[in-house]
Amino acid sequence: MAFSEIRTQRRITVREASGGDLFKGAVAIAAGTTLISCLTLDISTGLKGALLVAGCLLCLYGAKWVRKYLKDDKTYREYAPEWDDKHFIYDRFAKGLNAWYRQEELPEDADGDIAYFLKLQRERLRNKGLQMEKRVVPTKGTGYGTGKRSRKSLWYTTDMFFEQVSGTLAFHNANETVFEQQSEMTMYEIVAHTPDTTRADQIRVTCPQCGAVNVALKLEEGCPYCGTRFRIRDLFPRVVNFFFIKTKSIASYKQIFTQTMTLSMASVFVITLFHNIFTNFRALPSMLFNSFMMALLAGGMIGYLVGDARLLAAVFDRDGMKHISLLKWTSSKRKITNTMLKYDKNFSFDKFEGQLVALVRMAVLAEKPENLACYAAGTRDAQFADILEMTYTNGLCLNKLWLEGDQMHMSIRTWWINYYENDGKIKKCGDCIDTVFVKNISRQEEPGFSITSVFCPDCGGSFDAVRQRICPYCGKEYHMENESWIIEKMHLIR
Ligand SMILES: [Zn+2]
Ligand SMILES: [Zn+2]
Repeated sequence: MAFSEIRTQRRITVREASGGDLFKGAVAIAAGTTLISCLTLDISTGLKGALLVAGCLLCLYGAKWVRKYLKDDKTYREYAPEWDDKHFIYDRFAKGLNAWYRQEELPEDADGDIAYFLKLQRERLRNKGLQMEKRVVPTKGTGYGTGKRSRKSLWYTTDMFFEQVSGTLAFHNANETVFEQQSEMTMYEIVAHTPDTTRADQIRVTCPQCGAVNVALKLEEGCPYCGTRFRIRDLFPRVVNFFFIKTKSIASYKQIFTQTMTLSMASVFVITLFHNIFTNFRALPSMLFNSFMMALLAGGMIGYLVGDARLLAAVFDRDGMKHISLLKWTSSKRKITNTMLKYDKNFSFDKFEGQLVALVRMAVLAEKPENLACYAAGTRDAQFADILEMTYTNGLCLNKLWLEGDQMHMSIRTWWINYYENDGKIKKCGDCIDTVFVKNISRQEEPGFSITSVFCPDCGGSFDAVRQRICPYCGKEYHMENESWIIEKMHLIR
């Protein structure tokens, strides 16, 4: 396995207005005003004329910068970023997802597992008499664009794409909007690319027509279940997983800072000026100069401190997320990776984390989780049945891991922001979900493995692992833990 470093591709976007421009403008106008105010002094007419000219020029120069700032700010605020769906699978999927949440078709690039999850969610919402609207667009302003991390395996390349997005989440019932929220997140998409065609006899693909699992070679000859023929390049690339992690954008941090500085300097100026006029009356230029200097020094310092505090608060704004120990979080990632690398040299933490998110999400949104081959945790806590949407927060801690024979068990706590229905109202809650995952570590996961439809290891038949655990062809019980991670226990902490 070769890891390439993270690559980023910039997106063409409108930058947020520069706080520096505004500052330059304000300083020039302050200096200009002070010069012009010297006209109130008892000085020669010639000097007055010179000061007036210089003051006006400075004010004009300052006004130019302030105008530039205001214009840039207006352009920025009015700019509506859009996905560019023509070329790029990341954008196409994001756009497809928006369309899905407008009650349109499934995203064309989604694989079977994603499609199944999206349908589960829509069914849950329908049962509650609700519609969810989720719309994400690329975040505007300073950003890194689309990040990409590629992983080459023996069979094909998987790319993890990620980008800062801004989104709106809303829930509607038959009459009105019952919940609406704006938020900033990072959207992750895992994309499997065109495989090495010489391995077409080993790569599993879900038939886009009927959902049965076949090796890619079979689908080229015609799906044994529905007869449809596909070309490999029609089957790839595919988005095999996607999830959102709550994060704030660079542009919004910058804006918080500019805003605080401006407000602080302006307030100090006004307060000092009034103080001077009413209690310490002197010549106008002197009072103005003093107020401007105070605004620059005291206002700047206060603004800097308050701005920093606000940034810090924004960084730690957990949006209701429960507390997580930073130390435990860092060590968990290392411990899981180190342990798993002993058994699977292809192990990647990102992929593992994405799998866990997909598994938990599916187990929570399924109406009858006990039918899922990837869920063996018995009766589910009734509270899970009210959850409508889940945002993973990147919070994950390992409680314990142990080996029983070849079965690796991992007890893991995950942090989420969940949206759930309660008496027709939508509530947002920082939940933790304690889960025990189990997998047979003596077997490697096959490329293209799906948790919704599987191959029977005994007879080779393909069946729906979402509705049954017993192979309909040979009657043997199917054990998904031999091929992938499954959920052994699941518990909600609210
Ligand atoms: Zn088929
Ligand atoms: Zn079978």
